Amino acid sequence: MAETMRAVVVPRHGGPEVLEVVSRPRPSPGGGEVLLQVKAAGVNHLDTFVRRGMPGITLPLPMIPGSDASGLVAAVGAGVAGLEAGDRVFVSSGYSCERCRACLSGNEPLCRFYGLLGEHRDGTQAEFVVLRASQALPLPPGVSFEEGAAFPLVFLTAWHMLVARAAVRQGEEVLVHAGGSGVGSAAIQIAKLHGARVLTTVGGAEKGAKAKALGADEVIDSRTSDFLAETRRLTGKRGVDVVVENVGQETWEKSLLALAKGGRLVTCGATTGYEAKTNLSHLFFKWLSLLGSTMGSRAELLQIADLVAARRLRPVLDRVLPFEQAAEAHRLIAARAVFGKIVLTP
Ligand SMILES: [Zn+2]
Repeated sequence: MAETMRAVVVPRHGGPEVLEVVSRPRPSPGGGEVLLQVKAAGVNHLDTFVRRGMPGITLPLPMIPGSDASGLVAAVGAGVAGLEAGDRVFVSSGYSCERCRACLSGNEPLCRFYGLLGEHRDGTQAEFVVLRASQALPLPPGVSFEEGAAFPLVFLTAWHMLVARAAVRQGEEVLVHAGGSGVGSAAIQIAKLHGARVLTTVGGAEKGAKAKALGADEVIDSRTSDFLAETRRLTGKRGVDVVVENVGQETWEKSLLALAKGGRLVTCGATTGYEAKTNLSHLFFKWLSLLGSTMGSRAELLQIADLVAARRLRPVLDRVLPFEQAAEAHRLIAARAVFGKIVLTP
């Protein structure tokens, strides 16, 4: 039987309009793999980069985008232990060799074979997706499929930035850029969970109120005020201990100036460009640390899932749309008209 499935596809690089929903053969799991019946698939900024194309990176097109998903195990391949058809799971989108020093020390993203579903191979925005069994993690009871598709990539990114890289501590002050973004809305909660005072930039009063509801102590409206001046004012001219950066070129210089002595800037992305300027005298006189971060470990993801199950971290769902509106999801993200995450359903 030639069973098919529906999938969102990036057939070629371009604007949101290039996205299509097409019929594809339903994949089947090989040894060590499982077939996931997708109930919900998250949309990330990454999807828009994959759609547009990234300078210097060749992607295997056409490709199914999507790095987050949750659903039910539909079938298991040979040699898979501990998973069976019907299990509720969510996807750990990163995969790696699982046997090198980076992998075995919990630094999988540093593995030379590290890849992400939806970037290096077909992703999750399809009715079915084949995963390595190690990528199918138990979705805790009480966590919905939509939530299970909303939290993994952004919470893992923010957790690794704040906890593993910046080592945020009780009583510190943290500035989170773009508190309404997926990573930003996760970072606010994670910094609060670790006892920090959180300042965050948002575009507009409505997003400000939502950021406060997530626990942000101070909200800076990036449309009407200068975040550097506001950060100085709100910290009594001291600056913050940690800046969570994902904006890049547009904010970099001021982010450095917003740091207190001994402060750490941690970055996971540069949505406004990579060519940022760094004043080295600030770097050494103030003992600043610049920290890069991308994704995180599967152990961290399991810890996050426990905290989500315990409702100590809350996936932030902006809206749920059908696959057919994937282009609309990309447009909303580009227009910054989203607070938290958009999730697609088949
Ligand atoms: Zn490895």
